[in-house]
Amino acid sequence: MALSPSLAVPLAAYELPVVGIEFDQSIVTILGTLAIAVLIALSAFFSSSEIAMFNLPKHRLEGMIEDEISGATLVKSLKDDPHRLLVTILVGNNIVNIAMSSIATAILSLYFGGLVGVLLATFGITALVLLFGESVPKSYAVENTESWAVRISKPLKLTEYLLFPLIVLFDYLTRQINRLIGSTGAIESPYVTRDEIQEMIESGEREGVLEEEEHEMLTRIFRFNNTIVKEVMTPRLDMTAVPKDAPIDEAIETCIQSGHARIPVYEGSLDNVQGVVHIRDLVRDLNYGEAADDELELADLIQPTLHVPESKNVDELLTEMRENRMHMAIVIDEFGTTEGLVTMEDMIEEIIGEILEGGEEQPIEEIADDTVLVRGEVNIEDVNEALDIELPEGQEFETIAGFIFNRAGRLVEEGEEITYDGVRITVETVENTRILKARLTKLEQPADDEPEPDDAAPLEADDDHE
Ligand code: ADP
Repeated sequence: MALSPSLAVPLAAYELPVVGIEFDQSIVTILGTLAIAVLIALSAFFSSSEIAMFNLPKHRLEGMIEDEISGATLVKSLKDDPHRLLVTILVGNNIVNIAMSSIATAILSLYFGGLVGVLLATFGITALVLLFGESVPKSYAVENTESWAVRISKPLKLTEYLLFPLIVLFDYLTRQINRLIGSTGAIESPYVTRDEIQEMIESGEREGVLEEEEHEMLTRIFRFNNTIVKEVMTPRLDMTAVPKDAPIDEAIETCIQSGHARIPVYEGSLDNVQGVVHIRDLVRDLNYGEAADDELELADLIQPTLHVPESKNVDELLTEMRENRMHMAIVIDEFGTTEGLVTMEDMIEEIIGEILEGGEEQPIEEIADDTVLVRGEVNIEDVNEALDIELPEGQEFETIAGFIFNRAGRLVEEGEEITYDGVRITVETVENTRILKARLTKLEQPADDEPEPDDAAPLEADDDHE
C-alpha cells in the first residue's frame, strides 16, 4: 500500500498481526475517528435513555398511553422490567465507551508511542465521553423526558435483541450478586409515596399552584386519618340529652332550646344512652301521627346509635356512620362512661374547616400577629398551627384547656398565667372548674437562641404561674 505523504511519522503502515493485512496508517486513523464519532453518538444515546426512561414518572406515562401517543406502550413494556432495562442500557453504554477508548489508544499509540498514547487516549476520551456522551445528552433528556423516551424506545428494544445473550447473562449475574449482598435490587420506587404527595402540596402552595384554602384542605385530609374521636367530639358537659321517660313536647323544647336537631336519649344517667331522637320525628308524630297524644312515648321514636371508644380513628368512624346511615355516635371511655358525642359535622369539619352556626364564636380568634384568644376545647395542634408554636400534646389531653390543667396540676382561676417554651398562656374565662377561654401570646425569643430553662421540662406541675 502507498504511504501517505502527509504523515511524517516513522511508522507509516500498520500490520494487523493475526490476519497479516497491512493498513495504511491514515486509513486506520480515519476509520478509527469515524468509529469514535459513531460510538460517542451511541454513548449519548444510552446515557440519555437512562435518564428519559427512569425519570419518566408512571402517572405521566399512563397519561401518554391514554392520549395514544405512539411509542408510549413500548416505553411501558420496557419499564415493566426496570432491572432488565437498566442492564441493557449499562451493557450498551459500557461496550461503546470501552471500545471507544481502545480504538483511541490504538490510534494514538501509532503516532505517539505506547505510554503517551495511553495517557492521551485516557484523558481525551474521558473528556469526550463526559461532555458529549454524558453531560449534554443527559441534560437534554432531563428537559425532554417524555418525547425522548418515546423516540429512543424502539432503538432500545433493538439493542435488547442485539445484545440479548450478554443482557441475559448480566441480568442473571447482578440479580445473584444483589441477593448475596442482601439488596432488594429494586430500581424503581413505588408509584408515589405519601410523603411525596405531602411535599408536592407544600411546594404547590409556595409556588402559587394551589390556593391557600386548597392547600389547607389537602393538608387536613392527610391529618384526618391520624385524628381520633376524642379530638373532635363535643364533650359530655356540652351534651344536650333527654331522659327516656320525658314527654315528647319536652324533648322538642330541649331540641329547640339547644339548637340541635338530634338529641341522645338516656335511661337513668348519661352513661346509659339508649339512642337518639330527631326533632323531625318528634314533631311529625306529635302533630301528624296516628297515635293519641297520651299514648305517644319517646321510647318509640328512638333511633339506634353507635357507641365508640374515644381512641377510634375518625376516618373509620366516618365510614361506619355512612354505612349505617347514622349522623351521631356516643363516645365512651375505657370504663364505658359517656365522654361526649360526635356527629358527621364534627368529622367533616376536620377536612373542610370549622362550620360556624348562628352566634357560634370562632374557636381561635386572632388578636394580633403574636396573640390569639382560643376556646378551651380547641386542639393543641390547631393552636400550634395558628401561632406557629410547638406546644406538646400529651397522652391524656388534646385541648388547650387540658394542657393548662396538666401544667398547673390543679384547678386554675381567671387571670392566671403560665409560660411555656416562649409562649405566655393567660386563663381568660373559667366557668366553675372549666377553662372556657385562654389567651396565648408568642413571646420574643432571646436573640442568643439559648433554650429557656423550661424548654425541655416535662409536663408536670410547676410554679410558673402566679
Ligand atoms: P345540629 O345541626 O343538630 O346542631 P350537627 O350535626 O350539624 O347538628 O352538629 C353541629 C355541632 O353540634 C357539632 O359540633 C355537634 O357535636 C354538636 N351537637 C349536635 N347535637 C348535639 C347535642 N344533642 N348536644 C350537644 N351537641 C350537639
